[in-house]
Amino acid sequence: MAYITLKTPTSESHINIGFEFTEFKTQIGKSQVVIITDSNINSIYGSQFSEFKVIEIKPGEKSKSLEIIGDIYKHLLDCHIDRNGLIIGIGGGVVCDITGFVATTYFRGIRFGFVATTLLAQVDAAIGGKNGVNFQSFKNIIGTINQPDFVYCDPKMLDSLPDEQYRCGMAEAIKTSLTRNNKLFDFIDENKELIISKEYSVLQKLIYDSVKIKVSIVEADEIEKGARKILNLGHTFAHAIESKTGMQHGEAVSIGVCKAADISLKLGFLADEENKRIRELFKGFGLPTEFKFDFEELLPAILHDKKKDEQIINYILLNGIGKPVIMKFHYNELKKIF
Ligand SMILES: [Zn+2]
Repeated sequence: MAYITLKTPTSESHINIGFEFTEFKTQIGKSQVVIITDSNINSIYGSQFSEFKVIEIKPGEKSKSLEIIGDIYKHLLDCHIDRNGLIIGIGGGVVCDITGFVATTYFRGIRFGFVATTLLAQVDAAIGGKNGVNFQSFKNIIGTINQPDFVYCDPKMLDSLPDEQYRCGMAEAIKTSLTRNNKLFDFIDENKELIISKEYSVLQKLIYDSVKIKVSIVEADEIEKGARKILNLGHTFAHAIESKTGMQHGEAVSIGVCKAADISLKLGFLADEENKRIRELFKGFGLPTEFKFDFEELLPAILHDKKKDEQIINYILLNGIGKPVIMKFHYNELKKIF
């Protein structure tokens, strides 16, 4: 069991790793508490939080819409939740995104916390305070940055996670490992089999180390003016591929990171050996590393990506494993590189 505190100039977020998820009840009162969860999680764990009011959404990215957000506001009003309320999101990335967005806009912002139920949420989505919903075909372009009061990451909850979603979480963990020295990357590489078999102590260390790296990056640059951009490694293409094909986020991240590694190799930043190691590690968890696409076709999605600043695209490359660099390309240059 371990705690990590994420401190920003305006908030403190307490991240609890390796605790039973029901421990969240010790942190809160009983009145004015509402839980947002999806129907899958509610059917598996709902009996363990049945004393609270529950708003259930459908699982999946489609729920991240302003229409669903509107329905949730209505529910909160019906439950007489005011500025003293507390909203807890119990679920994966989608539930965390929605909960964070609702809580930071309702009554100009009320308290919220997360129980992260997927590996992707435990190592990434629930940490760092970014939340958002999709608009038209664009991912996460409406949202805020605000830290949850608390996050619970209970590795035991991953036992019920479908393999595909588990793999997707590994894509984000590997991505994170590539942004800070090579210790976590080596740990994942050396413990591949134990991670796949969900060995508890290995999983706990994987989550702890991933969260620790992300927290230190977010603390240095909460609102993504500079250093936090490195966490977008692989995401420019991932978001474009996702909005074009509906592919799972983690799978698209795997492809996006491999693309960034390839380009880093071509430009002389990354050694051939390192490029191969990165690719093999994603493959080792059953993640895709290739995707044939037409640059022109993905272009609109890339240019509407949130990282776009006029026609200049921030693109994260690797100067080695654990050594990210933020590069700026005009899209014409990027096209040429492809
Ligand atoms: Zn991501």
